[in-house]
Amino acid sequence: MTDYPVNITPSEEEALILESVEKFLERDVRPHAHDLEAKDEYPREIADKLAELGLYGATTSPDYGGLGLTATTYSKIVEKVSGVWMAVSGIFNSHLIMAAAVERFGSDDMKSAYLPRFASGELRGGIALTEPDCGTDLQAIRTRATREGNDYVIDGTKMWITNSLEGGVLAVLAKTDPDAEPAHRGMSLFLVEKKAGYEGSKLNKLGYRSIDTAELVFDGVRVPAENLIGGEEGRGLQQILNGLELGRINVAARGVGLARAYDEGRRCDLEAGMAKLFATEAAVENSIEAMRIHGAYGYSKEYNIERYYRDAPLLAIGEGTNELQRIIIAKQLVERNPV
Ligand SMILES: Cc1cc2nc3c(=O)[nH]c(=O)nc-3n(C[C@H](O)[C@H](O)[C@H](O)COP(=O)(O)OP(=O)(O)OC[C@H]3O[C@@H](n4cnc5c(N)ncnc54)[C@H](O)[C@@H]3O)c2cc1C
Repeated sequence: MTDYPVNITPSEEEALILESVEKFLERDVRPHAHDLEAKDEYPREIADKLAELGLYGATTSPDYGGLGLTATTYSKIVEKVSGVWMAVSGIFNSHLIMAAAVERFGSDDMKSAYLPRFASGELRGGIALTEPDCGTDLQAIRTRATREGNDYVIDGTKMWITNSLEGGVLAVLAKTDPDAEPAHRGMSLFLVEKKAGYEGSKLNKLGYRSIDTAELVFDGVRVPAENLIGGEEGRGLQQILNGLELGRINVAARGVGLARAYDEGRRCDLEAGMAKLFATEAAVENSIEAMRIHGAYGYSKEYNIERYYRDAPLLAIGEGTNELQRIIIAKQLVERNPV
């Protein structure tokens, strides 16, 4: 982890961190992005260097070895990383969403057992929510977690799970009571280590290549009951939706001007949704515009323009599709401005 001089102000600290990130991007990422992406090869050395920069603990509290960065600084980092190679920001984004769920809702034992290892990058991972038949409507998931003595046994299939093959742990959303009404009251979130036995196969993607996104099969995967985040069933959907706000800020990182309002520590689904929608639609439009401006060179595999064009559409899908953001924004505007 990077050491900074003591007695520096938050803005000096931010400047130092951003400078380190810029140097890392120019030295270790930019020269390799094109080749690694073309080969769809996992950027292992880059992933290890993210640990040296402390980015696996970017938004985690210093009490657990994290950098404890504000949403504003974090979004500036993501903006810089994505400007060079968007896939690299995916290596720590869903990892930090998982860490945020543990930090906000986990027991003290769970926090001290896992958060320092998450923050150092020793144990990396992500979130397993989506299934073959549902993504936006998470209440329709079918993965089951059944209590057996001191364990839960997890059965089901998860789809499009990033950091699941290279990482060693996932926050897995499962139904502990499939008959609950409303359905979210029967949904719980578990920390599941890869060594518990889930199997995965890598998916071949249009863009956002090189990093591992996989289909995962949980066939009788047994985890201790202590791995239920928060220790109480029926809270999983809320717990993960809270963390997804951080993910939306990540994908909205170009809307940095809005980020300062996030730092007040309040729920910010309206603001995060607006920033995500605006910034990602702009990214999609800009990537097409860049293709046109560069003419045939934009279409060539030799240059980066075609990669931006392939990467950008994911931003309109991940962390809640843009159609879902429109629904969230409309609901919040109506709630906050009653007539
Ligand atoms: C590269 C990549 C990486 C990913 N990584 C992860 C990961 O790490 N973990 C994870 O859990 N998931 C991950 N996902 C999955 C992603 O979160 C889902 O694809 C996304 O939530 C959309 O779900 P879906 O694909 O099932 O589409 P659907 O939910 O089937 O949606 C299809 C279309 O219908 C629209 N739609 C759906 N419901 C409504 C509604 N009520 N009103 C209006 N329109 C609606 C959607 O906006 C969309 O346009 C990843 C996906 C990709 C492509």
